[in-house]
Amino acid sequence: MARKIIVAHSAGQCFGVKRAFNIAMEAAQSEDSVAMLGDIVHNEHVVRKIDEAGVNVVPQLDRVDGAGSLLVRAHGAAPEVYEEAHSRGLKILDATCPLVHEIHQVAREFAEDGFKLIVIGDHGHDEVIGITGQVEDAIVLAAPEEVADRVPRKLGKAGVVVQSTQNIENVQRIIYELLPRVRKLRYVDTICGPTKTHQRDIRKLPAEVDVMVIVGSFTSANTCRLTEISKEKNPRSYQVEDASRLEADWFVGMESIGVTAGASTPDWIIDEVVSSLESLPG
Ligand code: SF4
Repeated sequence: MARKIIVAHSAGQCFGVKRAFNIAMEAAQSEDSVAMLGDIVHNEHVVRKIDEAGVNVVPQLDRVDGAGSLLVRAHGAAPEVYEEAHSRGLKILDATCPLVHEIHQVAREFAEDGFKLIVIGDHGHDEVIGITGQVEDAIVLAAPEEVADRVPRKLGKAGVVVQSTQNIENVQRIIYELLPRVRKLRYVDTICGPTKTHQRDIRKLPAEVDVMVIVGSFTSANTCRLTEISKEKNPRSYQVEDASRLEADWFVGMESIGVTAGASTPDWIIDEVVSSLESLPG
């Protein structure tokens, strides 16, 4: 019997990442030198393409050579980055996803209204740094267990926003822990639409197939989250960066394979994985 391969409709790059990639590739065509603080998205293949096109990745702004442009990545940056770039005479090419700009806006509004900002997200993640940078002294929570240590008892007013790629179940657990500690709690659901679609599919597809393949970088929070959810539904879930990482043993005797990919994984990598799966012996 022929093996069935089902690719999730939501697999692969979201519009925010595609937009950032296009801005970077367009910028690379210009005469100006273009620098970027860190990788544009968390995917090694995309980063290599951009690097080959001529965009320089630098760890900090003082490493930008001469004048030119600074490309701000899909997941945004804190206001200090913009200020420092301006003071160094750099032009800003802002590839921040519009949905991340919206989170920044909500964060600032909370602060203006006197609410303590709480960001549910991964410590040290670029997007979370960009969000917390919008206000002073924000609290970051990655897991429900952190609430007791990081949130003071009887906090008067707090406003919660969420890193765009968070797992909704984790967010719900954190909110549940926050409720008894905060007198007035406001919550704005800032998990983005593409992430929600990904997470909805990943709660369904793994249970319908024998084995799941999740394509994307291990540095991509969003891909790792898909793998985490997939494993809960189907322990035969494997994350691979690209087709070269597939292991034939995983598929022996398996009649159906589900495939999905994180929001930073380009279509060409997904296509290669699907072709390799199709050519596996039955
Ligand atoms: S994951 Fe969501 S917020 Fe992030 S770039 Fe994609 S669409 Fe924008």
